[in-house]
Amino acid sequence: MSPDPVTRTPYPDPDPVASTPNPGPVTDTGTAVHRAVAAVEHAVKGPVFDCRMCGQCVLHSTGMTCPMTCPKTLRNGPCGGVREDGRCEVDPSMRCVWLRAFERSRRLPWRGHFTALRPPVDNRLTGSSSWINLLTGRDRRTPPGWRP
Ligand code: SF4
Repeated sequence: MSPDPVTRTPYPDPDPVASTPNPGPVTDTGTAVHRAVAAVEHAVKGPVFDCRMCGQCVLHSTGMTCPMTCPKTLRNGPCGGVREDGRCEVDPSMRCVWLRAFERSRRLPWRGHFTALRPPVDNRLTGSSSWINLLTGRDRRTPPGWRP
């Protein structure tokens, strides 16, 4: 049986803020509004997705599986150290996050997004609300020189 054809999907483009040089620190996360929204987001997504509040949510393209739960916090697939039984090489008590992500993504209408190249995580956004960062476009700013 032939494998499920998957079309490589580029990261959303054109993106007016993707090539913004040196996006700088997040300056609004200390506001009361941002803290309140981040608290609500954590309360909702923590129990459901084990959200680690990275501030740049990519759940839609990872089969609704949080990549930040990977011990290596890989954003673009497994490390290559997956054990033969599908368990994680770092934490054998858990199944590889990326195997689960792939399996779940197959059941989604937008499964082609799974192969989108996700930009490196910006640790300056840790703890901030990905909902606000999505609305402001801050989550789509990438390091200078990085392009998919
Ligand atoms: S990708 Fe980031 S924002 Fe989305 S669930 Fe995971 S830690 Fe939370």
